[in-house]
Amino acid sequence: MNMPLNIEPLVRKNILELQPYTSARNEFSGNASIFLDANENPFGDVLGADDYTRYPDPLQWQLKEKIAALKNVPVERIFIGNGSDEAIDLAYRIFCEPGKDKAIVCPPTYGMYSVSAQINNVEVVRVSLTADFFPDVKGIMSAANEGAKLLFLCSPNNPTGNCMPRKDTAYLLEHFPGMVIIDEAYADFMDDDSWLTKLDQYPNLIVLQTLSKAWGMAALRLGTAFAAPEVINWFNKVKPPYNINGASQQIALEALEDSSRVIKWTKEIIAQRTWLSQQLSSLPFVRQVYPSDANFLLVKVEDANSLYRYLSERGIIVRNRTKEPGCTNCLRITVGTPLQNQQLIKIIQQYEY
Ligand SMILES: *Cc1c(COP(=O)(O)O)cnc(C)c1O
Repeated sequence: MNMPLNIEPLVRKNILELQPYTSARNEFSGNASIFLDANENPFGDVLGADDYTRYPDPLQWQLKEKIAALKNVPVERIFIGNGSDEAIDLAYRIFCEPGKDKAIVCPPTYGMYSVSAQINNVEVVRVSLTADFFPDVKGIMSAANEGAKLLFLCSPNNPTGNCMPRKDTAYLLEHFPGMVIIDEAYADFMDDDSWLTKLDQYPNLIVLQTLSKAWGMAALRLGTAFAAPEVINWFNKVKPPYNINGASQQIALEALEDSSRVIKWTKEIIAQRTWLSQQLSSLPFVRQVYPSDANFLLVKVEDANSLYRYLSERGIIVRNRTKEPGCTNCLRITVGTPLQNQQLIKIIQQYEY
């Protein structure tokens, strides 16, 4: 059933021919006592701890081993980026010939797919989600036949909160003639299984996850792309040599030691999501609270601009999505702590429209 997709013909010609940079630390990986190969400071770092004087591991092997164990994915299928946004940009640079190849995005969705396309001078073909925010499979397939190399599916989708149906996604993985990028930034909050378990089956699948949301480490800038080893090799060739700094690697290693808090927080956020959804639904000016598999709710109200203003004047900032296709009068509200959510509801109950 699965398409025996060959990756190499999808890769840009200049990338196929690329002679990647080899750093001092790439070329020598044995044991030595005197390192005079990288023009570093021999005395140490200015902090005095000597933690940062040497260039960091360009391929972050220790961190990848941790992630491999945590996600049950072999290290050779893992790329770590400076946020998942780096992986999105690299996908364009590896696969899309500027001014020629195209990418398909399904609005309303995460904005970086099209920003990154524009930066790379790649044309975006927009195939909107249906009114219920499901993919228009036929529309995607007919757009695909006009030179699309990348398809972005966000599941759970930002800002709508729903997962893309498995059947549609599987169909697209099997029939789309390019790379399918499934962005699972909110995977920790969903009921569905991750597509990580299907990497073996689909050579054109790239799954994105991040430490920015459930793990609570947005400032570290660490995102992961999971894909076939061949695809990961292209990512490694094109990325800046030291894309993950030493401090981030070190802190992430520590942070990934203990996932118990993440599990506890995630449960709490899911419970709060249900509570918040019920509370919001009962308000007279709320037309719809969309079902969510993420840590936020998309809420359709009578007048999004007015409610947005009302809340921000009272120190509560939510995301106004009213200008996004299919999201007229919608606000995206992140699920907060129980206290924050109670305060939100208390203030929103006093809103007069
Ligand atoms: C927040 C978010 C990301 C995360 O990006 P990072 O660069 O890893 O912080 C990626 N995709 C979607 C859909 C998001 O909402």
